[in-house]
Amino acid sequence: MLEDWLSRWREGRIGWHEADGNALLKRYWPRLVRDSSVLVPFCGKALDMLWLASQGMRVTGVEISELAVKTFFAENGLDYTVSEQCGMPCYEADAAPVRILQGDYFNVDCEPFDALYDRGALVALPPDVRPEYVAHTEKLLREDAFRLIVTLAYDDTLASGPPYSVEASELMAYWPDLTCVCSRSAMDQAPPKFRQAGITEVLESVWTPA
Ligand code: SAH
Repeated sequence: MLEDWLSRWREGRIGWHEADGNALLKRYWPRLVRDSSVLVPFCGKALDMLWLASQGMRVTGVEISELAVKTFFAENGLDYTVSEQCGMPCYEADAAPVRILQGDYFNVDCEPFDALYDRGALVALPPDVRPEYVAHTEKLLREDAFRLIVTLAYDDTLASGPPYSVEASELMAYWPDLTCVCSRSAMDQAPPKFRQAGITEVLESVWTPA
């Protein structure tokens, strides 16, 4: 499965990447205490990391693809320093509070974070792996950490992920304290295979504490 992600990056099949970052993040991320640490699992080269840094957050992304990590820094004109942190290579921007741990998320061992931003992590995983993802993520968060999670939902009898469809009931079973604060149509985020399979509706939802 990891090999599949690496070849997507090698071949430039990264249709999930949003050129302007995620609009719902910008609308629903609250004002948190300055210098709060934010965990961004499965970060890709998401510009959301820079937006969070612009909000005074200290950002830690985690990404398996070294190519993705290097592309993030190159495309944003950021110089970086590489060291070993949290059990894996860490690329840290010299001039912005952003670092990316390069390796398998499930091997990350870090001090607990103050907040979570998940867009494209939970939905990147097949159903049988998601409980393990949630358990591992919770271990990496302070108990009272702020959580913002973006999910996608569609008729997954027609096509399968990634991105996987995550229903409200499943999300609420993992995080009973979160509620859906916004849902919008997101066909623009559907890969071509969805259209080919006859899917006409994809719903993007944002979950935060009530
Ligand atoms: N959050 C990003 C990327 C979503 S796509 C965005 O919104 O643009 C999912 C990303 O997770 C891919 O870049 C893939 O390479 C990475 N990934 C998949 N499995 C991973 C794992 N086990 N550990 C770390 N990164 C992983």
